[in-house]
Amino acid sequence: MKAVQIAAPNQLKIIDLEKPSIDEKNNVLVKLTAAGICGSDVGIYHGTNAAATYPRIIGHEMVGRVESVGENATKFKAGDRVIINQVTSCGHCYPCRIGRGNVCDNLAVRGVHIDGGYREYMAVPEEDCYLLPDSLSDEDAVMIEPTTIAIQACSRAQLVQDDMLLILGAGALGSSILKIARQICGHIIVADIVDAKLEAAKANGASYTINVLTENLEEKVKEYTDGHGSTVSIDASGTKDSLLTLLKATGNAGRVMVMGFSTAPIEVNQFLITSKELDVRGSRLQNKMFGKAIELIEAGKLDLNGSISHRFPMTHAQEAFDFVDTHDPSIRKIVLTFENL
Ligand code: MN
Ligand code: ZN
Repeated sequence: MKAVQIAAPNQLKIIDLEKPSIDEKNNVLVKLTAAGICGSDVGIYHGTNAAATYPRIIGHEMVGRVESVGENATKFKAGDRVIINQVTSCGHCYPCRIGRGNVCDNLAVRGVHIDGGYREYMAVPEEDCYLLPDSLSDEDAVMIEPTTIAIQACSRAQLVQDDMLLILGAGALGSSILKIARQICGHIIVADIVDAKLEAAKANGASYTINVLTENLEEKVKEYTDGHGSTVSIDASGTKDSLLTLLKATGNAGRVMVMGFSTAPIEVNQFLITSKELDVRGSRLQNKMFGKAIELIEAGKLDLNGSISHRFPMTHAQEAFDFVDTHDPSIRKIVLTFENL
């Protein structure tokens, strides 16, 4: 079978591998049908993702059809359409024992620390598979994974109906967070530097938008929150200075959610946090949120149809990643496909 391997930063190879077979642990064999390209995949390709190790078969938005199951598998049968959880955890460390396997001490993320989904077949444990809703195509279903990341952020933020939420960044992550947040609270401010993205955010339920290139974020947030500041701020931009920006824009007793991977040091003074008694929390990956995302889709509360802007056969991954690098404004979600390779 064919696979996309990042041999080292900026070295993408199409390699030939033996087709995996099921065993007692990895008891479901999935034939991939669609795999999304995420910003973090691009980061691994370019060598800017500190978590990744090489060589690596990347891809963590993994959708396919069950080809066969082992004797000890009880939940799935051949032909089932599934999405695969990217998070694997050890089950016995402290985070795992308190039910937070997404930050397991021995965390292994498919497509990052262990091989992921840019390959024709994967053998995985059945507990890592989730049945897709009939209403969603295999390609659109890759968006369930970014949705789980958004659900995780809102859940870590303990977002409730009365919150005044600020989402910094209206890109892929920010718009996924908006789609989830608007189900919980009605007062949402979205900030970005691109007007077209802010217009899209408005159309998708943002109450207010701020272009941080032309407007003062802190002042505008105050104006849109009766002078208080946001009660919850989520950083969906991950830029070097976004944490400091959000500490300032958030009001007393607020929560500030950090999701970025920047390792650049910044100066943050303690009193910003102490004086307002802010909760500053990280949100990483997702903690078994696939079921929740699929529930929302099945209840008709979340529509992921029409999410895909571009498709490339998996064996043309180089072309796909080169296209991502053009930053063409038409790019929303790109999927790799697996037919007629
Ligand atoms: Mn992703
Ligand atoms: Zn663990």
